[in-house]
Order: sequence, then structure tokens, then C-alpha cells
Amino acid sequence: MNVLATARPAASVPKPADHFDVLIVGAGISGVGSAYHLTTQLPGTSFVILESQESFGGTWLTHRYPGIRSDSDLHTFGYRFKPWVGPPIATSEEIKSYMGEVIAENDLARHIRYKHRIERASWSNATNLWTIEAVRTDSDEHATFTANFLWMCQGYYRHSEGYTPEWKDMDSFKGRIVHPQLWPEDIALKDKKVVVIGSGATAATLIPAIADECAHVTMLQRSPTFFRVGRNAIELAETLRQLQVKEEWIHEIVRRKILFEQDAFTRRCLAEPEQVKKELIGQITAVLGPDYDVETHFTPQYRPWRQRIAFVPDADLFEGIKSGKASVVTDEIDRFTQSGILLKSGKELEADIIVTATGFNLCVLGDIAFSIDGKPLDFADTVTYRGMMFTGVPNMAWVFGYFRASWTLRTDLVADFVIRLLAHMKRKGAKKVTPALRPEDHNMPQMSWIDPENFNPGYMMRNMHLLPRRGDKPEWQHSQDYWAEKDQIPAIDLDDAAFVYD
Ligand SMILES: Cc1cc2nc3c(=O)[nH]c(=O)nc-3n(C[C@H](O)[C@H](O)[C@H](O)COP(=O)(O)OP(=O)(O)OC[C@H]3O[C@@H](n4cnc5c(N)ncnc54)[C@H](O)[C@@H]3O)c2cc1C
Repeated sequence: MNVLATARPAASVPKPADHFDVLIVGAGISGVGSAYHLTTQLPGTSFVILESQESFGGTWLTHRYPGIRSDSDLHTFGYRFKPWVGPPIATSEEIKSYMGEVIAENDLARHIRYKHRIERASWSNATNLWTIEAVRTDSDEHATFTANFLWMCQGYYRHSEGYTPEWKDMDSFKGRIVHPQLWPEDIALKDKKVVVIGSGATAATLIPAIADECAHVTMLQRSPTFFRVGRNAIELAETLRQLQVKEEWIHEIVRRKILFEQDAFTRRCLAEPEQVKKELIGQITAVLGPDYDVETHFTPQYRPWRQRIAFVPDADLFEGIKSGKASVVTDEIDRFTQSGILLKSGKELEADIIVTATGFNLCVLGDIAFSIDGKPLDFADTVTYRGMMFTGVPNMAWVFGYFRASWTLRTDLVADFVIRLLAHMKRKGAKKVTPALRPEDHNMPQMSWIDPENFNPGYMMRNMHLLPRRGDKPEWQHSQDYWAEKDQIPAIDLDDAAFVYD
């Protein structure tokens, strides 16, 4: 018999699933940090990182608009275990190179599989395993994995497209409309009139980076945002470096200083918001001068800290405005026209290019279709355990960082917790851990993931209904409070009735 003639084509033979103790979703700053902690704190654990992009970096890989940089300092956005030796506000290239060093120094590359987009994750109570189905983005091939534990490091927004509101007559505009999240390589800005819609961190970064090249850049905002202004340097770090103090020490000392100051600042925002507001706006007046209309353009209606406050290094955005290369318009869009934007005030802004720096599309758990024993899982039906796990969802943790402090501070804390939990399960011989409301929690009020009175950026407000719910006790909420959690998370009693082991 001709064996070749009867053999099935290779593609139709289902490949056996690769099995790992832990499967990490995403090779952004959270995924790479979590992998570091797993290899160092629980050596011998088998794991894989699946990443849909062609390389590591997450946010810092997919965002390619001019000037892209961090808006918080890298001593705290960097990991606690790897000193940051550059200026506090860093470019995406600098952040990727720092992450690349972490990968190389800890031999993590062999654990990462790029171009694997996870589409489905199914938990089986019969096998106590997750089955993860991914598609190779280069070949459309399917790949299946099984894992005991799923560590979700997929961030919080959709990388494939940003959020652009629908404005009237957008189609009639003859120029180009660009979202910073999909910045085109071929865009020519030279001598072009550019309008940037939005005044968040992205607009504040992009505008000074393109202002010299364009004919003019206008920042169009519906309402003003708070900014902090300062030198892109930390004097204490510079002094310690002059004294030839070891970089490990400098990193730790400067982190403590920054965190101490941020804590004090947050408290002041709550205790004396009017005074803080005056100080923040005063920093801008100091650059733009007493005649500039800061009342209209830089005086927000909300309390400081209700939304993230972007840091503007060396006041570059305001220097651009002062030089006349950039300007600010505070108004509402009535509709797009062939040559620009007509505002509600009746004024028309002419543009060759319109940049919609209007934010993200929140994406709950990586757009993955989850199920438990074949039943689709809707995370909005769950209650979060400290913003890390979910009621009724076994063997899964999510790294959702801080908005008001650096995201990565929580990556380190959550990693310590997950590793402690995995070690605890091993000691107990448990195959499964599922968060569950305790008898005393059953009448607890259940609310949206974040209290809008406390923190209310647009991308959260638009999509809150998709997120897990929050209770009114510390166990059942993501408090966004690093200063409390740095002590609370390490002290979590893993034998608390909120954890059900099998
Ligand atoms: C422009 C910009 C600047 C920012 N600056 C700061 C800052 O200065 N300080 C700060 O604290 N925060 C900042 N943030 C917030 C920032 O997103 C986080 O701090 C942090 O980078 C998030 O890291 P992450 O690894 O959790 O997620 P991400 O960076 O979003 O990475 C997640 C990774 O998971 C992958 N992934 C997602 N879904 C799937 C799937 N289904 N299958 C396979 N892979 C998947 C993605 O491709 C991505 O690579 C900024 C955000 C933006 C957009």
C-alpha cells in the first residue's frame, strides 16, 4: 500500500496541546515583569508567554506617534528589581531597551511566543485546566495550549484601534484624519496645518514633538486638563550619582522619595483641592505669562486627581504655545467641513491633518472569549477580588495596575501575590482556587469597577458596564491606592474563606 497516498495532509492532523504550569498573556511591561518574578521566586515552574505582536513592549511597541514617552517617572514605572538609570520621563525606545535588558539578563526570550493572538480560553472543572486557543498572526495557523493557571497581563485597552467619536460630516473633510494609536509611517507634516483633538497626555506629548515641523498645530479641547510641569531630571539621583552611589541604591532611594512625595500630593489633592489647583495652574502661568488666558484654556472644572495628571517635562508643550508654533482652542465641535472643523462658537479651524487624540477603547481581558465548562463567561457577572481575581473564575489573575501611581508598581505586587498563591496551592495539594463571596459578603452592595466620583476618565466611563463589579470592602475592590496595598497585598491570608480550594 502506498502510505503517502493515504496519509492525511499535515494541516488537518490536530497538534497535541503544549502544556505549561502557567500561561502569561501579553509581553508588555506587566507580562515581562511577571515572568521575571515567576522565574526568580518560583523556579522550576514551566510557563509560556503568548503575545500577539511581533515583539515585546505592549504599549511601548504599538504606540509610534512622534514624541511618544512615559508620563510618569521611570524609577517607579520601571520594575523594583531593575534600576532605571536614565532621565525620569522616558521615550518608548528607552523603555523597550530597558525591557529588552530584563529579557536578556533573565533568559526570558525562550519563554515568549510572538504572533500568537489568543482567541479563546476555556476552563474545565473535569481536568482543572485552562485550554487556550491562539491563532498565529503570520500564518493563520491554530495553536492550542493547556495551563493550570492563567496570568492575564493583556493591559486594559485594545491595541488594534483607538477611540474616535463620530462627529458630523467627518467624511466631507478632504485632508487626513489620524488616530495616534495607528500613526501612519508615510504622513508628511512639513508645513501642514494640524489640529489635534484632545488635551490628554497623548496630545501633550505629540504637540511639542511636531510643532517645529508643521506650519501650525492647534490643540482643540472641549474642556481643560491638569498638567504638572518640571525638569526632566531628579536632582537627588544626580547628586547620588556624583557621589558614585550604586545604581541599585539610587533606584531604591529615588523610588522611595517619589512615592513619598506622590502620597503627600494625593493627600493634598483631597484635603486642599483649591490650593493644589492654584499651584498647578500657577506653573503654567509662569511659562505663558500673566496675559495668557489660563482661565479658559488651563483651568479644569474637576478636582485635581480625578483624572490622571500628565507630567510635562521641561514645560515643552507650554514653550511651544509661547513660541506661537502651537495654540489652544477651547470649544466644541459642531461638524467637520471640507477644510477643517466648524466649532459651536461659529469659528472655523482650518486643517490639512486632524489628529484624534481622543483616547482608548477599553478592552476587558484581551478580547478573548472565555468559558467555564462550556458556558460563556461574562466578567460583568463577577465581583473582583482586590482587582486581581474574580468570583467564580478559577486559577486566573489579572494585572490591572495603578492609574494614579505608576502601573508597574502593581505588577510587582500582584506578582508577589500570585506566586505566594501558587506556592500555597502546591503545599496544600490543591489543583484549583476560586474566589467566592463569603457568607458575610452576601448582602454587600455591588457597584461599578471604579467609583466615578473618585476617578472618571472617558474610556472607563464609556465601558464600565463591561468590567467586573466592586463591593464595599477592601477585599472586593481595586482601591487604586498603592500606599495601602503595598502593605495589604503581602498580608493577604490565603486561607481566608474568600479563596475556595479544590
Ligand atoms: C501612550 C501611553 C503612555 C502611557 N504612559 C504611562 C506612564 O507613563 N505611566 C503609567 O503608569 N502608565 C502609562 N500608560 C498606561 C500603560 O498602558 C501601562 O502603564 C502599561 O504599559 C501597561 O502594560 P501592560 O503590560 O499591562 O499592558 P500593555 O502594554 O497593553 O501590553 C499588553 C500586551 O498584551 C498583548 N495582548 C493583549 N491581548 C492579547 C491576546 N488576546 N492575545 C495575545 N496577546 C495579547 C498585547 O499585544 C500587548 O503587547 C500609558 C499608556 C499609553 C497608551
